[in-house]
Amino acid sequence: MNDFPSYYHRIQNRGAIRSNLTTSITTENCIIGGGLAGISTMLSLIERGHSVALLEANTIGFGASGRNGGFLSSGFSLGISEIEQRVGLTDTKKLFRLSQKGVELVVSRSQQFCLNDEDLSAGLVRSSWFSRRDLLQKDVEYMNNTFNTSLVYWPEKKVRENYLTNRYNDAIFDPHGYQINPLNYLNKCAKASEDLGASIYETTTVRKLKKIPDGYKVYTREGSVTAKNVILCTSAYRPWLNFKASQGILPVETFVLVTEPLEGRLSDAIKLPYPVSDTRRIENYYRPLPNTRLLWGGGISTKQNPNNLKKKMLADLLSVYPQLKGIKGDMAWSGTMGYGRHRMPQIGKLNENLWYNQGFGGHGLNTTSMGGELIATAIAEDDDSYKIFKPFNLGFTGRPLGLVAVQCIYWTWKIKDKFN
Ligand SMILES: Cc1cc2nc3c(=O)[nH]c(=O)nc-3n(C[C@H](O)[C@H](O)[C@H](O)COP(=O)(O)OP(=O)(O)OC[C@H]3O[C@@H](n4cnc5c(N)ncnc54)[C@H](O)[C@@H]3O)c2cc1C
Repeated sequence: MNDFPSYYHRIQNRGAIRSNLTTSITTENCIIGGGLAGISTMLSLIERGHSVALLEANTIGFGASGRNGGFLSSGFSLGISEIEQRVGLTDTKKLFRLSQKGVELVVSRSQQFCLNDEDLSAGLVRSSWFSRRDLLQKDVEYMNNTFNTSLVYWPEKKVRENYLTNRYNDAIFDPHGYQINPLNYLNKCAKASEDLGASIYETTTVRKLKKIPDGYKVYTREGSVTAKNVILCTSAYRPWLNFKASQGILPVETFVLVTEPLEGRLSDAIKLPYPVSDTRRIENYYRPLPNTRLLWGGGISTKQNPNNLKKKMLADLLSVYPQLKGIKGDMAWSGTMGYGRHRMPQIGKLNENLWYNQGFGGHGLNTTSMGGELIATAIAEDDDSYKIFKPFNLGFTGRPLGLVAVQCIYWTWKIKDKFN
């Protein structure tokens, strides 16, 4: 059992936990959930001069936002070709551009808040696990020509010179993708919002919402908030505050390991500083951390904190880089992602005063910022750009049976990955 939810929590320097809400307050906007979705929405609203109070059940970044792999890139959990099949090329281009703007916003905010180079650096690699040579090159050409990306094709020789495993073939390099310390970024966004006048309450679980004329009353154990707008950013967590929004999301676990510092041994396996993911449906994602530790992620499940997680993750790492045999895992954790059935973000409103910003799945570092901007511009400027997400509505995930379906999909994908 870890003392901290993740390695990022162990090394963060965030100051004392904020007080919980013990009084009744009134504000224009009440945000529930202090992950990237909630904090980004808060910052986008307060930057536009609209008052905000945010309520977080634990501490800021307790959920997926403080536990993730730190890969910041354009796109969504759902692949581009699947989005195109669903909404056509014109809207796919608009959606992809929004996802790029999400990346740009995180980068510009990180620079504004002086996040240091150790916490944000450019360049991501996606390496091919499968042996068909022409696929990635075609992907690069298609993305660059159709979506104005600047992806670079890396042939097998370049990949194998720098990543010393025979698991990979060729790869795609994205110069406009980044690795980021997500919790340090989140803490800076929270602080910047407070400096502009927002209020954040930690250890404050919202238990109930009540519709009132012109808004909502939000109840916690010891206090309440009266607000014109409530924005639900609670992802896959309980208690359910609105049946439709909560039922639209399935909780899916994924896992991360951080090794001990590897010193010189790291370069026996990995020669470049970039984060790497691979092309399997159930991929690995990993990146060298500044102090020669390796952060290694992978797997999905419906089960939190499986037994022997550290050992299992280490075995997974050694199956790709057997030359690292003997290294020790320092810390392993699981994190809960919130997925809609369609694997796209769910951004919209349930009625005039109740908004939702959720369902970012495994691709939330850019899309949560994008969602925050869309909701803030809708509230502050009456902008209706968020409606482009209408085809990806809340749907019905059929919990708890939906969870059985997730586990079955996982097993099917694993088998398909093996046979490919
Ligand atoms: C292990 C892991 C690796 C990942 N890797 C990447 C990656 O490399 N790149 C990428 O782009 N994405 C990645 N993701 C996905 C990304 O982290 C998420 O999509 C994103 O953080 C979702 O943010 P969120 O704010 O919606 O949810 P969360 O961060 O889960 O926040 C929800 C918050 O709401 C609070 N809450 C819930 N209910 C209440 C209530 N009733 N009252 C008060 N507060 C409440 C919770 O305590 C929680 O803090 C990863 C996710 C995981 C788990």
